[in-house]
Amino acid sequence: MKPEFPAHDAPDDARSRRQIAPVICYPVDALPPPDLPALHKARDGWEQISETLVPPRDARCFDVPAGHFCRIVSVEGPQVGDLNLWSADLSERFFSSKTRALHGTHLSTGDRLWSSFPTLRPMATITDDTLDWYGFDGDGLSVHDVIGSRCDPYTHNLLSDGGQYHHCCHSNLTRALAKARDLPLDRAEALVHDVLNVFMCTGFSRQTGQYLMKASPVRPGDYLEFFAEIDLLGALSACPGGDCGTLHSSDQAACHPLLVQVFRPVAAPEGWRAPDVNGYDRSHGGLQHR
Ligand SMILES: [Zn+2]
Repeated sequence: MKPEFPAHDAPDDARSRRQIAPVICYPVDALPPPDLPALHKARDGWEQISETLVPPRDARCFDVPAGHFCRIVSVEGPQVGDLNLWSADLSERFFSSKTRALHGTHLSTGDRLWSSFPTLRPMATITDDTLDWYGFDGDGLSVHDVIGSRCDPYTHNLLSDGGQYHHCCHSNLTRALAKARDLPLDRAEALVHDVLNVFMCTGFSRQTGQYLMKASPVRPGDYLEFFAEIDLLGALSACPGGDCGTLHSSDQAACHPLLVQVFRPVAAPEGWRAPDVNGYDRSHGGLQHR
């Protein structure tokens, strides 16, 4: 049974406490901004070196060498994609929640995709987004979120009275990584992490804080493009939710493939060099207790 809410009376100064102005948790002014004009110029004359079609309700891995560009393209119909990124040696993985803390709940051009501790460095920089016109809609929702983690068979099992469904993004990503790197499923699963929800339209209810989704505004031809700052292995799942307008974690939604294209520029972007690993010395104050 849910507890009565609220269980506690508000104090006399509740109003003034609530009226304290918020501040931004992580101002990013100190971060060097990406040189977008140089990145865009590097696209002139680029050559496509690979193309991967991700089937509906499945995932595929792809390599993006440092200094190359990658596009995730909508084809055939509206479809959401769940993206994982690792360093090519699998020692670093995309850090969805810190990326959210730094850049906000939804990503677009100019935002970085940061790696996990202890390297915490840009793995990729978003260089183009044909859905940047969407902004935040009247319900407070936007596209390309770093809030939704990924659909998975464990949550589905809890919420569907023991259901067993094998084509959630979590399982699709696990199978794709296991195949790409010849890993047992359990080792691959441990490397799968919270995603960038490409093309998904999401937000939170202002009343209850619940996670909301609506049909993605993506249409065939739309794409999200990023520049690889380090050698990357990517995995993309074409979510069983399709456009994620109603359902996920089942075969009921209309689903479409997604296309991944990788491009090699003629020359590296002017002034670009691969980012160093994070400068923290990792001593953590030592073992002496104060
Ligand atoms: Zn999914």
